[in-house]
Amino acid sequence: MGLVCIVGSGNWGSAIAKIIGDNVKKLQKFVSLVKMWVFEEMVNGRKLTDIINNDHENVKYLPGYKLPENVVAVSSLGEAVKDADLLVFVIPHQFIHAICDAIAGKVSKEALGITLIKGIDEGPQGLRLISHVIREKIGIDISVLMGANTANEVAAGKFCETTIGSKVLENGLLFKELLETPNFRITVVDDADTVEICGALKNIVAVGAGFCDGLHCGNNTKAAAIRLGLMEMIAFARIFCKGQVSTNTFLESCGVADLITTCYAGRNRKVAEAFARTGKTFEELEKDMLNGQRLQGPQTSAAVYRILKQRGLLNRFPLFTAVYRICYEGRPVEEMLSCLQGHPSIY
Ligand code: NAD
Ligand code: 13P
Repeated sequence: MGLVCIVGSGNWGSAIAKIIGDNVKKLQKFVSLVKMWVFEEMVNGRKLTDIINNDHENVKYLPGYKLPENVVAVSSLGEAVKDADLLVFVIPHQFIHAICDAIAGKVSKEALGITLIKGIDEGPQGLRLISHVIREKIGIDISVLMGANTANEVAAGKFCETTIGSKVLENGLLFKELLETPNFRITVVDDADTVEICGALKNIVAVGAGFCDGLHCGNNTKAAAIRLGLMEMIAFARIFCKGQVSTNTFLESCGVADLITTCYAGRNRKVAEAFARTGKTFEELEKDMLNGQRLQGPQTSAAVYRILKQRGLLNRFPLFTAVYRICYEGRPVEEMLSCLQGHPSIY
């Protein structure tokens, strides 16, 4: 029997809780109660955990969708992960170190994890994947799930696909059982690092796509940004992935499909467009526009910029570099267009 703990309860965390809560009720091998760790906060004078446990809705991060009653909100991290057999990590990537430090030593060594977190970390040697951070700090096997999955559409039960990357196939297949529905169709592949890199890097491209929208460039220009962004994603994975990098993985939901949905309907795109139009900072816009939800794209562009700079590779990644410089160095948004016009595009 597998007891599931969802570590996180934001927009995506709550949408995936809806799927998990419904699935465990139907599948004998999982315990029918699901624990969901909630970063406690007051919403309209009430604790968010109380709202979720009494009204069965995350009114702040996924309003308008009922959560199954077997999903129980827990504010203590230690309490949430205690006795869990399966851990689903779904928090903004900037909190991963604090969360792992808080639960290290409290998770069973036999537990299995999956990360839905799109972002990267940096270590002394440069790139560190979020799955590597979790594996090192908690000592459990970690799969990854990335795909074209805007949370509200998934919560609404609209059909989509997603990709699980798993170095241990049977673990990936177990998570497929836990997470799949007729409208959330999962493919399992083995080059997990490529899947994870796709999920992180597409957010940089989405910021670039938002700049194109802010400049009123039109759909053809945005399509060019998506294509050139994809070329840079492939090149980056080929340089930085230690294991295999299969070109086919970029054709899965985690690759081209996630790029498309995020560049048209994601938060990174939306806020980047507002950045281009208003001149406000990303921090201001995140506060004004997202009601507590977080962006990953600008921060990921900064981490990628530092990693590429350290290796002397900036000139091979003009789109990633332009996004960073516009976000953080005060370069004009028009540099997005000139970067596309002069892009070498051949790798
Ligand atoms: P979100 O953007 O809704 O983030 C807000 C969450 O962060 C809330 O649960 C909040 O309580 C929590 N939080 C705030 N301060 C915190 C702190 N100090 N420590 C820990 N947690 C804190 O979150 P999300 O949309 O669930 O995104 C989580 C991950 O899933 C991200 O990597 C994102 O890229 C990825 N993702 C999101 C979507 C989507 O459509 N939202 C889809 C696929 C993947
Ligand atoms: P945003 O974080 O830009 O909303 O992207 C969501 C996502 O990852 C959809 O797959």
